[in-house]
Amino acid sequence: MHSDLAALAVAGVRGLQPYEPGKPTEELERELNIKVAAKLASNENPLGPSPRVVQAIIEHLQGLAYYPDGSAFALKKALASRHGVQSDCITLGNGSNDVLDLIARAFLGPGRAAVFSRHAFAVYPIATQAVGATARVAPANAVDHLMPYGHDLEAMLSMIDAQTRVVFVANPNNPTGTWLSCTPLQAFIDAVPRDVLVVVDEAYFEYVQESAYPDTSKWLVRFPHLIVTRTFSKIHALAGLRIGYGLSDPSVAELLNRVRQPFNVNSLAQVGALSALNDDDHVRQSVEINTQGMRELTSAFRERGLRFIPSVGNFVCVDLIQPAMPIYQALLKEGVIVRPVANYGLPNHLRISIGTREQNRLFLKSLDKVLAL
Ligand SMILES: *Cc1c(COP(=O)(O)O)cnc(C)c1O
Repeated sequence: MHSDLAALAVAGVRGLQPYEPGKPTEELERELNIKVAAKLASNENPLGPSPRVVQAIIEHLQGLAYYPDGSAFALKKALASRHGVQSDCITLGNGSNDVLDLIARAFLGPGRAAVFSRHAFAVYPIATQAVGATARVAPANAVDHLMPYGHDLEAMLSMIDAQTRVVFVANPNNPTGTWLSCTPLQAFIDAVPRDVLVVVDEAYFEYVQESAYPDTSKWLVRFPHLIVTRTFSKIHALAGLRIGYGLSDPSVAELLNRVRQPFNVNSLAQVGALSALNDDDHVRQSVEINTQGMRELTSAFRERGLRFIPSVGNFVCVDLIQPAMPIYQALLKEGVIVRPVANYGLPNHLRISIGTREQNRLFLKSLDKVLAL
């Protein structure tokens, strides 16, 4: 772009780096003229969507001429019953990223600030700065901490000031996979002033198998300043459909819905999500594949003397003890796409999404080959 035109952008946007997604399979195939063997770059579910969801979507294709139900009556009713809340506590988004954006647009702006942790999900700074608010980044846990690179709740609390309107907490966090247990998280939310919203991003909720991991949606009654976000992109394997949601006090949801585009969630996404809620077997199976794959990958890292950040998500960050970018590039040539995380302040790590057994083995084989070079 011509530099004069770039200067036209608002200050927050001028200071932003665009979000870097995982390299699309088609792009690598186009660039290197090879067949991609494994894409383990975007925390997608290797099982794929539930066949029931696919069937439900096919059956609704004829309805494409009509606008979706802007209030998503049926899906909200199902979500409300699942979470034991009223429908007016729910805000639907075009992915949960959209909900994070709605939160920024409704509650942040020039002269206001959002607090989040270093190494936290990249959408928080984008949503914050895009609306002209200030990002206050709290230092993360030290490398020798039990939860290395994870959220330091005390540090986050101490960053909250009179300008702060939103605190973003990823539980578990992406890309680290670190998590917060019930007691400290509850104490944190309680300690945050009631005029500051605490957003707990639970995109990987269903994957977590730890008994001390909290379902914060149960705390909405106690904490009117709490917003919980969930998504259908991860365990439900519907990342391409774009649907997620927020749970909050009805008055907060009402504000979010004021800035929401009336048809932000398309009709197929509504139908697909509704159907996904009725396939618990698919969720169970996805968790099983992930648990098994995580075990395989982490024990392979241990065998190779490679340290990794303990993760409860469907991905794991491995420390290559050297700049990870060249290794990432070399893996691409093997047809294996993983995720460099230098933009998250982790230049020696690669983030690997857990794949099928075959994909995990192929990644390990390629890693061995590449590291031996
Ligand atoms: C993947 C992810 C999301 C979900 O994004 P969608 O917009 O729902 O696809 C949200 N938060 C975190 C931390 C994630 O990793």
